[in-house]
Amino acid sequence: MAAEKLGYRKNDASFATRAIHEGNEPEQWKHMAVVPPISMSTTFKQDGPADFKMYEYGRSGNPTRDCLERCLASTENAKYGLVFASGLAATTTIVHLLSSGDHIISMDDLYGGTNRYFRRVVSRQGIEVDFVDATDPKQIEATLKPNTKLVWIETPTNPTMKIVDIEAVAAIVKKHGKSFLVVDNTFMSPYFQRPLDLGADITMSSVTKYINGHTDVIMGAICTNRDDLNENLRFLQNAIGPVPSPFDCFLVNRSLKTLALRMEQHMKNGLAVAKFLEGHPCVEKVMHPGLPSHPQHELSKKQTFGSSGMLSFYIKGNNLETSKKFFQKLKMFTLAESLGGYESLCELPSVMTHASVPKEIRDQLGITDGLIRVSCGLEGTQDLIDDLDQALKAVVPH
Ligand SMILES: *Cc1c(COP(=O)(O)O)cnc(C)c1O
Repeated sequence: MAAEKLGYRKNDASFATRAIHEGNEPEQWKHMAVVPPISMSTTFKQDGPADFKMYEYGRSGNPTRDCLERCLASTENAKYGLVFASGLAATTTIVHLLSSGDHIISMDDLYGGTNRYFRRVVSRQGIEVDFVDATDPKQIEATLKPNTKLVWIETPTNPTMKIVDIEAVAAIVKKHGKSFLVVDNTFMSPYFQRPLDLGADITMSSVTKYINGHTDVIMGAICTNRDDLNENLRFLQNAIGPVPSPFDCFLVNRSLKTLALRMEQHMKNGLAVAKFLEGHPCVEKVMHPGLPSHPQHELSKKQTFGSSGMLSFYIKGNNLETSKKFFQKLKMFTLAESLGGYESLCELPSVMTHASVPKEIRDQLGITDGLIRVSCGLEGTQDLIDDLDQALKAVVPH
């Protein structure tokens, strides 16, 4: 494995095996199907009133969904996995574990949609949310209160690619004793980062991104080892109802089979592009945790098994006009939100994914009109580099 040679943690050689076989046993199906069937029925026949075998109603449980949930749990080294209609539906369900009067600590540098949900929805429900710079775990410790119930972190951060020390934050949360720790693992996928092994209580993922990886399903997932959290979350999954369709579950289960292979190629392309941009005369600065110039490169190697295809960079000039022209010149990279698919995308967080973040916070975080976020797909490495090179040279004097 390439990442191991670069000094990252040694990955689990059985990851791909689990992602292929766990929850996918042919023996569970009457016809011994090797590929899990898509079970579309919304209801299931009962032997007598309230006397049913495994399933009763499609929101409460579905065979195709169960199969995906078991497979997904195995990739996070988790006992339990639950899937939802979107990443934000998974987030919402987690926040439903809280009551009014509770307190959340989250980060200033957060996925735009999570940020908007915490600031504009959760805060209206009698739950207080504080946003801190979690790259300094002491700030989390200093913000803890007796009513803090949830600590929510994301690493690497989006879009500035800062790293949060998961083990250090988990130790603080454990010592506090009254709260649980959620890690948004979307940017890494369980192939490159497994937060439960580092002490987190829950991992949340936007399955929409790397886990599905084919840009054709919106879905979210929660994994945990804790019986109590699983029990409560299962209840909420049914009681609130944000479940995904069996067809989407089939697609994501299929995508899991190639997750390990895809992530290796995302890493290769991401690193090559980051290195290329770092030496480019039209680029001011590159943020990628795999670059030795990244201030937390060592921490990244300590807690992950590699890096994904995500990076950000400042284009020289650092203004909206130049950025707009740059996007127009690109031929292979598509200007679009989202990330983690087989196709390369890029976007301008200040006016797209992070437009809902208040401007003064964007400025503080360095989310300027010259900060470009890149999701490297699975295309040929040199083709990606050539495309960025010609677009940069076409718009930036050099
Ligand atoms: C996309 C994303 C989400 C939200 O997931 P959806 O599937 O779009 O609802 C949450 N966190 C991160 C880091 C994301 O990139």
